[in-house]
Amino acid sequence: MRVLGEKHPNAKIMLLEKEPSLGQGTSRSDHNTGTGHTGAFYAPGSAKATAANEGFRWLQNYHHEKGLPIRNVGKIIAASMPGDDLFLQKYQRQATANGQKSAVILSGDELRGKYEPLLSKTITAGLYLPEAYLFDADGVMKAMAKDIECTGGILKTNHTVLGIKAISEGWLVRTQKAEFIAQYIINSAGTHADRIARMIGGAKTWKIMPVMGSYVELNKVVDWRTAVYEPTRNPPFLGVHVMPGITGKPFMGPDVFFSPLRERSGNETSLPQSIFKKLYEAADNIIGLPRDLIALSANGLVPNLQFYAGMGAKKDGRAEVWKHLNIAAFARDAQRLINRDLLELKASDFSPLRSGIRAQAIDLLTGKVLQDLAKEETPHPLKPSCRFISDKMPGSPGFTASVGKARWMTESV
Ligand SMILES: Cc1cc2nc3c(=O)[nH]c(=O)nc-3n(C[C@H](O)[C@H](O)[C@H](O)COP(=O)(O)OP(=O)(O)OC[C@H]3O[C@@H](n4cnc5c(N)ncnc54)[C@H](O)[C@@H]3O)c2cc1C
Repeated sequence: MRVLGEKHPNAKIMLLEKEPSLGQGTSRSDHNTGTGHTGAFYAPGSAKATAANEGFRWLQNYHHEKGLPIRNVGKIIAASMPGDDLFLQKYQRQATANGQKSAVILSGDELRGKYEPLLSKTITAGLYLPEAYLFDADGVMKAMAKDIECTGGILKTNHTVLGIKAISEGWLVRTQKAEFIAQYIINSAGTHADRIARMIGGAKTWKIMPVMGSYVELNKVVDWRTAVYEPTRNPPFLGVHVMPGITGKPFMGPDVFFSPLRERSGNETSLPQSIFKKLYEAADNIIGLPRDLIALSANGLVPNLQFYAGMGAKKDGRAEVWKHLNIAAFARDAQRLINRDLLELKASDFSPLRSGIRAQAIDLLTGKVLQDLAKEETPHPLKPSCRFISDKMPGSPGFTASVGKARWMTESV
């Protein structure tokens, strides 16, 4: 809204949100890791890298402008397994090409000496990204909601979009409370984006695959200073991340686990409502399965079946399932990054913290998970000047990248 408002100051812009307040989807603090991501993970020149670059700076400035808490903790991508050195070199090349000139590969001793004294002695090297920070997701969403209202935008919460229809005047949008006519619709419904696009015949070749990511928190306060990640060796599995917690208790995750649900916001007012919603969600995903399988080409069938068959088809996937069910396995994984002599982890040291739903977008024609940003324009059958643009890839680093991504999404509007 902000980006569109700057571009078209006289336009009437409205945001429809089904929850009582903004940022209850994957943008909620306890649903994501909260790291301002630098460009190390993204291919130079990709839309994602460009959006993340712009968003990274913008988000940092926005925290300062609004007086929101932000912690410049830096990030280490640690080589914890044989062969990880190659990832470090690739990430350094990407970070440098994406403008993070200060990204540097350091030895394990240097990293322990300067940045993370508790880092495991088995880590022999790591890429250090000094600029990475932890953001305040809830604070940002609240400040943005205020901005919208102050700049004449219209914010309609508790409005669930139930249907959209093309009519001669534009798009007719129906919520449980009202109807609106719009000339342009930007569909940024996160894990629900494909459902919204399907209302007007879009999303024929892609779908959102909800994937649960859970975290655990250490029960004790520990002076863990830096965000430490393993390389993403086999996406969508992320390896281990050990993060400094706001409360001083580090947290670890997210793991990757099959999710029949698209969200975990839980604003249901009663138990039956909650059960109904969960059953509906699960049924909707399962009923959609044959449709998705039919849409697959022979090319995409095998990888998709692997994805649908749970994580069981891949070794890393089986480990993730086990980790999700057994906190001791989580502890063993995290110990790869933490010096056992200084901090030995046991299952009893952890409390399950929270989980969020990652939106993996799948191209149904190839069976591949989308890596770069992607948008779909669905034409209006009666009024060609009307536009409907869907965000096909609402996944990470969607929070960091948000402003850059909004500019990219709306460049034709
Ligand atoms: C486990 C995990 C870790 C992550 N870590 C990071 C990180 O460290 N750094 C980072 O930058 N990003 C991270 N991300 C990604 C980031 O959180 C998301 O990309 C970003 O929050 C997506 O924002 P969004 O606005 O596109 O979607 P959302 O925040 O999901 O918003 C979509 C909104 O649409 C609303 N909606 C849906 N359907 C309807 C309907 N029918 N009618 C009305 N409203 C509707 C929802 O209620 C929701 O509020 C992480 C994500 C997860 C899950």
